[in-house]
This record gives sequence, structure tokens and C-alpha cells, in this order.
Amino acid sequence: MTVRTRFAPSPTGFIHLGNIRSALYPWAFARATGGTFILRIEDTDLERSSQAAVDVIIEGMKWLGLDHDEGPFYQMQRMDRYKAVLAEMVEKGLVYPCYMSVAELDALRERQMANKEKPRYDGTWRPEPGKTLPPIPEGVKPVLRFRNPQGGSVVWEDKVKGRVEFSNDELDDLVIARPDGTPTYNFCVVVDDIDMAITHVIRGDDHVNNTPRQINIFRALGKEPPVYAHLPTVLNEQGEKMSKRNGAKPVTQYRDEGYLPDAMVNYLARLGWSHGDDEIFSREQFLQWFNLDHLGSSAGRFDEAKLRWVNAQH
Ligand code: GLU
Repeated sequence: MTVRTRFAPSPTGFIHLGNIRSALYPWAFARATGGTFILRIEDTDLERSSQAAVDVIIEGMKWLGLDHDEGPFYQMQRMDRYKAVLAEMVEKGLVYPCYMSVAELDALRERQMANKEKPRYDGTWRPEPGKTLPPIPEGVKPVLRFRNPQGGSVVWEDKVKGRVEFSNDELDDLVIARPDGTPTYNFCVVVDDIDMAITHVIRGDDHVNNTPRQINIFRALGKEPPVYAHLPTVLNEQGEKMSKRNGAKPVTQYRDEGYLPDAMVNYLARLGWSHGDDEIFSREQFLQWFNLDHLGSSAGRFDEAKLRWVNAQH
């Protein structure tokens, strides 16, 4: 199998070291195996995305030498493709229109919580043989919901987390198109990963809950999902999840402060992966050694003093 990996950042803020580590591993895996590394910009959140954030992604990757073979692809430029796949799914009965209003959904959620149930969509508009659907309300544009399989579970062997299992009964019929017809996040990711023939998805573990939903969509479209590796979070020096909100610096700031790209690659590599006790290694050694079997399962903690020390060794 020829490896095809991707980095798929959302340009909703300036990419920091924790984010770019999610580019380093798929890049290294592609380079170590003679595979292909793809850059995809997930810019569908129009309010929060910006060109300045895209620039930091591209410049930061360039500085670190994380060169891509295909892309950058922009999701906003692929809308026609998503809509075509949606139309196919409508035709095959893999999705259905749901006319439940936001107020009705809220009321449903409140009832469920009052009954100590987990809030979830109740399938009112899901067509079933012999079932009568409610009358279609006037003037309401429906969302499209995915017919999630009922019963059974979704299981995958995660390269970092081991066996992960979600019961289908925990998964709602996911909204995959909004009332105005625009496709939603999880659906776009699956269409992209299929079209780009991605074999290995290496990304942050904040996406673990999306994965069973994505796997079900893959299978509904007649495709086998890729191999997944969900990376643990990178913590800041205070032990909190590294984020723009708590002051993580944009990657390019380290460039401007004079850090060496090879030192940065070395440091970031060690934040979630190991090769015995080796602390200092060159880019070439890293690529020779890298494999998915030595990705760590506990959160790495950023330490600027250590980064300075690694930098001084290069
Ligand atoms: N765009 C997502 C993010 O920035 C990543 C999605 C993915 O890798 O599947 O968190």
C-alpha cells in the first residue's frame, strides 16, 4: 500500500506548536515510507477563518521543511463536490430531511435531561417501513441527517489508543447538511479523505468522538476507512491544553526568534514519539527511525528551557 497522509488544519487562529506537531508526524510518515503528504485547509468556518491564519500555516510549514506533495486544497473550493456527493446520498436513501426546528430540538433535549436520559435526536423524521412521518411544516427548510446504522458498534484499532469502540446507539443521526444546503464538517472530512485516497489519518485526539461518525459515513459510501492515529494533546508549561486562548505563540514567532528548524523538528518529534533514549537527532535520523508504533499515548508538555537546550545542540 502506498501511504497517503494529510494535515488538515482549520485556519481559525494562528497555528501553534501543538498544532504543527499534528503536521510533523503525517509528514514524517509519508517521507519515511516514500508516501505522499497532502495539505488541506479546512476553511468552512467563514466567521473564524482568515487568510492571515492560512499564511502562518504555510510559512510555518515551509520554515520547518514540512513540504507537501499535493495541495493546498481548500474546502471552500470543493463545495460543488460535497453537494454532488450529498445528492447521491439523497438518491440512495442514505440521508433524510429532518424538519425539527431548533425550538423543538431544545424542548426534546430538556425533556430527555429531566428524565436523566442522554440528550439526542429521537429519529422523528427518520423514515422506516410502515412508519408515518409527521406532516411537513410549511416554510421550514430541512436539515439532512445521515441514517446512522442502528445496533452494533463501530470499532477501530487506533495506532495510539489501541482498540476503540463506540456503540451505534450512542451516535445520533448526524446533520450533514444545513437548511441552506451547506455541508457540515464531518461530512466534508470524509469526502475529502475518500477523494484524496488518504490511507492514514494522524490527528489530535480531540477528534476521537468524530471518528465513529466518520467511519459510518465512509462505509455508507462503500469505502473502507483509513487507519487512524489520534495524538494526545500538547500541554503548555502550566499543564493546560496548549491553545491560542492561553497564549500559545504562533509557530512563525519561533522562526523570528531565531530557533533552528531542525532543532524544532527534533524537539516537536520528541513531544509525542520516542526512539529509545535518543534526545538529539538530525532530520535524516528522525525520518529513518520514524514509525507509528512509537507514538506516545500520554500528553507531551511544552518546556521552553528544554527547547532552548535542544536548539543549542544543533
Ligand atoms: N481541521 C481539524 C482541526 O484543525 C482537523 C481535522 C482532521 O484532521 O481530520 O482540528
